[in-house]
This record gives sequence, structure tokens and C-alpha cells, in this order.
Amino acid sequence: MERLDNKSVLLTAAGQGIGRAAAELFIREGARVVATDLHPELLEGLECQKRALDVTDRSAIEQVVYEEGPFDVLFNCAGYVHHGTLMDCREEDWDFSFNLNVRSMFWTMRAVLPSMLERRQGSIINMSSVASSIKGVPQRFLYSATKAAVIGMTKSVAADYVQMGIRCNAVYPGTVDTPSWRARVAAQSRQEGVPEDRVREAFIRRQPMGRVGQPEEIAYLVLYLASDESRFTTGAVYVIDGGWSM
Ligand code: NAD
Repeated sequence: MERLDNKSVLLTAAGQGIGRAAAELFIREGARVVATDLHPELLEGLECQKRALDVTDRSAIEQVVYEEGPFDVLFNCAGYVHHGTLMDCREEDWDFSFNLNVRSMFWTMRAVLPSMLERRQGSIINMSSVASSIKGVPQRFLYSATKAAVIGMTKSVAADYVQMGIRCNAVYPGTVDTPSWRARVAAQSRQEGVPEDRVREAFIRRQPMGRVGQPEEIAYLVLYLASDESRFTTGAVYVIDGGWSM
């Protein structure tokens, strides 16, 4: 794969998990990286431009893009997992998750698109999940609704700009070993009064491969979609889930 020396990349939620792994990979491949996160202290150690950014704040997004752009690549990684059924979902939960998981991407894409269109090149990668329109997963009512919306937005953007040099794809991971996944295991163990090991085992059993994914494994897919090697790909569904949804 060619190095990404000529690419400027904007990442959201780059402080930990998949976003961090992607930021590290982009840096290693020579890209000019602007790593952002709600908690800027989590960005420490990344050798790139670092900015605090709450993706639910539209003017903050516009400011970062104005000051740090133009960008060739946008990786929309920020997202939150709401645990529960339809009956567990309060209106404020709905608003919080849709603001963070969906509306934020509308704003970031709107912010970067004008300069991408001017230069007739850009690759946008949106973080979805197998828990979406791909697969019905128990206790993921709200999360799946938001991640299915990401798929719709991604395909629509891909269709609108396919002849203008812009590509837009989404990645759909299964379960990945990240700080928030570990926190979900701990929380579920407390809620259900079941030992953490048993909860973790149940997550692991979902993957026929017998393990959960590693953030780097998802990051390599993101790197591919950002690179020119994937130039024939847009509006695509990239499932990466250890065989969970096959
Ligand atoms: P994580 O959940 O452990 O970390 C999330 C990061 O997002 C943190 O650094 C946090 O500070 C940041 N963040 C939270 N709110 C923010 C906001 N308002 N603005 C900007 N940043 C904010 O990381 P993860 O588990 O790798 O998840 C990243 C993405 O991958 C999410 O969209 C998630 O839905 C998706 N995903 C994760 C898994 C998994 O099993 N971990 C599976 C499929 C999809």
C-alpha cells in the first residue's frame, strides 16, 4: 500500500479504542493527522495535531475544520452504545444517542465536503456497527437505530457525490475489545449479578471465530478505505465481525 504522505486526515473520538488505533496507524503511514476527542487528555502520546472536540457541538466542528482543514479524509468514529430495549429508551436517551451517533456525522460531513468538492477528492469513513440494519441484537434498540441511520447517510452521500471525486463508506464491526466494551461488560455484570467472566464469555461466543476483535484490526480497514488503493469503492458495506453476522 502506498504511504499516506499526501493526505490530511480528521478523526473524531481518537482518544481510545478504534479511533486511537486508527490515528496511530495514519500517523505511522505518514498522513497529516488531526486527532480530536471530547476528552483531549486521552490524545496524549499521539504525535500529531490534537484538538478537543465535542462532536455534538456544531460550531466547534466548524471551527476545527476551518482552522485545520482542508481534509482529504474524514473518519467519523464517535459513538455511544445505549444498552436496553425499546421500553428502556427514554426520550432523552433517544436525543443523546441520535445527536452523538448521527447528527454529529451530518455536521462533520457538511463541514469537510465543500473543500473536498473544490479539490474533487475526498474519502469519508463512517462508523456503523453490525448491530444496525445488518443484524438484530438484543438490548441494542436505540444503538441499532442510530447505526442503521449511519448506513442510510453513508449510501446517500456516496450516491450524491460519486461523480465529484468523493467516496463515502462505512465500517460495521462486531464486538471489539475497547475501553467502552470492557466498561459494558462490567456494567452488565453488576446489573445482572453475574460474574464478569460469564458476561465476557457470552460476548465472545457470538463470534464463530471464538474471540472479539482488536481495535487495530478495524483500523486497517479504515486505512484501506482512506487510501487511494480503495479508489473503486464507495457506498459500501464493510462488515468486520469475526463471522458474527454471516
Ligand atoms: P470507546 O467507546 O471506548 O471510546 C469512545 C471515545 O469517544 C472516547 O475516547 C470518548 O472520549 C469519545 N467521545 C465520547 N463522546 C464524545 C463526543 N461527544 N465527542 C467526541 N468524542 C467523544 O471506543 P470504541 O469502542 O472503539 O467505539 C468507537 C466507535 O466504534 C463507536 O462509534 C462505536 O459505536 C463503534 N463500534 C464499537 C464496537 C465495539 O465493540 N467496541 C463495535 C461496533 C462499533
